[in-house]
Amino acid sequence: MPRPILASIHPTAVQYNLERARRAAPDARIWAVVKANAYGHGIERVFEGLRSADGFALLDLAEGQRVRQLGWRGPILLLEGVFEPRDLELCSRLSLWHTVHCEQQIDWLAAHKTQAPHRVFLKMNSGMNRLGFTPERYRSAWARLNALPQVDEISFMTHFSDADGARGIAHQVQAFHRATQDLPGERCIANSAALLRHGGAAEVRLDWVRAGIVLYGSAPDHPERTTADWGLEPAMTLSSRLIAVQRLQAGDSVGYGSRFTADGPLTIGVAACGYADGYPRHCDTGTPVLVDGVRTRTVGRVSMDMITVDLTPVPHAGVGTEVTLWGRAGNGAVLPIDEVAQAAGTVGYELMCALAPRVPVVVA
Ligand SMILES: *Cc1c(COP(=O)(O)O)cnc(C)c1O
Repeated sequence: MPRPILASIHPTAVQYNLERARRAAPDARIWAVVKANAYGHGIERVFEGLRSADGFALLDLAEGQRVRQLGWRGPILLLEGVFEPRDLELCSRLSLWHTVHCEQQIDWLAAHKTQAPHRVFLKMNSGMNRLGFTPERYRSAWARLNALPQVDEISFMTHFSDADGARGIAHQVQAFHRATQDLPGERCIANSAALLRHGGAAEVRLDWVRAGIVLYGSAPDHPERTTADWGLEPAMTLSSRLIAVQRLQAGDSVGYGSRFTADGPLTIGVAACGYADGYPRHCDTGTPVLVDGVRTRTVGRVSMDMITVDLTPVPHAGVGTEVTLWGRAGNGAVLPIDEVAQAAGTVGYELMCALAPRVPVVVA
């Protein structure tokens, strides 16, 4: 029998979450963001659940190629645009739409020989200060693009720094609209957090929204709001089994560094999952975990191949009992990936993207 660790990907949950996203902005078209191999889930594995999206947004040209190979004939958008001039040839060949965020990308387009002009999304830096033209330089970039025979329609986009938090998006929304108000073209500004929290506002949802994390069943603004609050289903379950049980007495410690010491008799289970599987080592004693679908906690330090869990609420557990690190247990109980991420001082995004290559993956 192989080591019992397993990741299960749930395309039906992805489809459910996509429908949830659509309800948040019914009259907008939805980019399903599948960068980073669909946030670690596997583009091919979630594709069926995303068929009703209006387009796929991603970063790698190879990922664009994979989506075309799956038979997708609709829009595909490169969120960072091209990385070198010859990428434009693939854009022409596969009819990929691409972001334009800097002058070099306009230079490359101006020198590109193409039969069919390209659809581009001109990116504004409205305050994030990573990619894009500042509002002051945006219109001249638009004028340059608009004069190129290589360019077809020009759409407008920006990205929010604080859609999930207290600062909010109003200042960026205002900067975006002020600089684009009289320009003709489609608009796209909302990510998952903006969609869920502000999608009701017409000046936020606009023509397109970019739905990423919401599709995979993690709340973009956890812990302020949870997946239960937003009505999202986990798209990935990481599960394993107990491979040993230990009975501790008061004073006995567990694992590397003796980070946990029992203050009385305690039964613990050893689960076959460690940081080499993508379970974060920063999860200290108290991280939630499901054993046989019953919520309990980890004790002691995460090691490379094992974690130890408190079996007090599941006295019947033994070798072979199911352990759910995140996602949905066999009995239907859900442990949101966000709670494990929070215990590790990170976000659900990082955990799903960091699923380790040694973990077998099934679609279920
Ligand atoms: C990744 C990404 C998104 C999706 O963000 P989520 O928070 O996952 O919804 C949207 N827009 C851009 C430009 C991105 O890079």
